[in-house]
Formats: sequence, C-alpha cells, structure tokens
Amino acid sequence: MPLGEFELIRRYFDRGPARDAILGVGDDCALLAPIDAHNVLAISTDLLLEGRHFFADVEPAALGHKSLAVNLSDLAAMGARPRAFTLAIALPEVEEAWLAAFCEGMFALADRHDCELIGGDTTRGPRTVCITVFGEVPPEAALRRDGAQPDDDLWVSGTLGAAALAVRARSEGRRLAADDVARLRLDHPEPRVALGLALRHVARAAIDLSDGLLGDLGHILERSRVAAELDWPAVPVSPALAALPEAQRRSLALAGGDDYELLFSAAPENRLAIEAIGQRLDLPLARIGRILAGSGLVVRDARGQPLHIEAHGFDHFT
Ligand code: ADP
Ligand code: MG
Repeated sequence: MPLGEFELIRRYFDRGPARDAILGVGDDCALLAPIDAHNVLAISTDLLLEGRHFFADVEPAALGHKSLAVNLSDLAAMGARPRAFTLAIALPEVEEAWLAAFCEGMFALADRHDCELIGGDTTRGPRTVCITVFGEVPPEAALRRDGAQPDDDLWVSGTLGAAALAVRARSEGRRLAADDVARLRLDHPEPRVALGLALRHVARAAIDLSDGLLGDLGHILERSRVAAELDWPAVPVSPALAALPEAQRRSLALAGGDDYELLFSAAPENRLAIEAIGQRLDLPLARIGRILAGSGLVVRDARGQPLHIEAHGFDHFT
C-alpha cells in the first residue's frame, strides 16, 4: 500500500520535538516564541515549480538543498540569522527514495544553519516546493535595498556566471558531469548567511543575486533612488567561463542568474573592514563599482568606455 499523507509527514518531515520552536510539526500551527526586544522577524518565501525553476530530472537531494538555499539566501541578503522554516510540497506520487534524498539534501543544509522545520503542507499535484523561512535581525541592522548612498562602493561575493552556464547547457539538452563546476553551482548554491551577518552595520544595502547582477543591482538603484557605474574588469567571473568568448562571458556573468552571491554597497571607509571579513570567511569579496547620484547604470570596459549590455534580469512575466 502506498504511504498515506500523514504517515509520509510523520516519516519524513517530523523529526521529533522542536528545538527552538515551542511547538513544531504535528499540530494546527507551529508556535514560535517572540525573540527579544532587539530583534524583529525576517520572513521570506520562495516557490519552485518543476519545468520553471528546476528540471524534471533534477536530483532530489539537490532540489532539497536548493529549495532551502534560495530562502536562506534571502535571509543572508537581509543580514538576518535563520531560525525556522515551513515546507509546502506537492508531489505527483509518493516515491520514498525520492523523498528520502530530498530530505537529506534539505536537512543537511538546515542543520548547518540551525534552522528547523516547524510545519508545512503536503498535497498531490505537479511537483512544487514552497519554503518560507523565518529569521531574526535587529531592524536598524537589516540590509535593505533602499540604503545605498552616492559614493558607496559596490561589492560582490564569490564568482559569477557558472550557474547560468549550467542552465544554458541543460536547456540545450547537454548533460553535465556530476562534478562539473557549473552544475555544482546551479544545484548547490551556498547561501551567504555568515557574510550577511558580518555585514550588519558595515554594508548599507544588499541583495542576493538570483536574477543576474545587472537586474538585481537595478532593484537596489530603484529602491535607493541612485545610479551606479560598474567596472567590468573588476567583476569576478567564474573560472568555468574562462574558455568562452568575451561577449558570452560578459552576458553570463552580468545577466545570468542563480549565483546566489551577495551584492552590497558600503561606505569607502569600510574597505578594510570588508577585506577582513572576506579573509575571515575565506570568501573572495570584489569591489566592482560605485553608487552615484542620479539614475541609471553604466558598465565600463578596461579603458573606461561604456559597454552596451543586451540582457537584463529575469522577469517571469516579460
Ligand atoms: P492541517 O489539516 O491543519 O493543515 P495537515 O494535516 O496539513 O494539518 O498537517 C499536519 C501537521 O503536519 C501540521 O503540523 C503541519 O504543519 C505538518 N506538515 C504537513 N506537511 C508538512 C511538510 N511538508 N513539512 C513539514 N510539516 C508538515
Ligand atoms: Mg494542511
């Protein structure tokens, strides 16, 4: 007999008494204690649909990891510390091996960030995963999109473009080896939670790169009502793109999505502090441009000439 809904929940999603929460999986609601006088709740949700956000043949462990990773990345981009999450999942059928692997990927990441599953919903339907995360942050330390100021430096973590390279390969029907660098970047993004926490009171604005550098920077510029210039030679392009022609490297690194690195602005007097954070976290942090007064975004080449870049951020409706 196939596993019923309640047995499935008990077997895969109920991991015993809650640790941080007062009440977790198993009742009508989860109960989460108020934090303290200094912190507020940071809440974010992401919906992943088969065929749109992941390929039908995605490895379940990778999907479990990524579904939570993209949510933790939003907490990171706010400078928030993860606390708990809920999981709403639709599955076309109960496949225990699939579920076990999905949970393995999801809980390995959850446990690393001390973020516990406190509830959710389970239903039959086209494969869909929706996670909501709850984190905490002092409101005055939150890394909002509207905090950038003229003369701020623009920084980005890690390297860009590898995940977009993997998306391109797969949509062209090419299969990538399990240890392919680009595939690992696409399937196993590492949410920059420690960086987000370290940037409290250091960065003025931040966003995580889900839709591409130019598009996501555009959100900061719009919300902060400022302009920016980017120095293309300073952009940390993934070594996985080394063999590609310049125009392709540029379009994948500047407009390709799914990197889940952090883009942030900070006052120039914080340069040394930011370099020290990068060293402590063993994470490259590159200074790639600066915020200007006004509106618009210019990307400059090695000679300082403006570059024309075609693609912009991903938009589901255009
Ligand atoms: P209700 O009918 O009140 O919505 P459910 O029968 O859907 O309750 O769920 C029973 C319990 O199992 C609830 O505590 C719910 O939060 C939890 N739960 C259901 N699905 C999941 C899931 N995918 N992950 C974690 N907890 C879940
Ligand atoms: Mg329910």
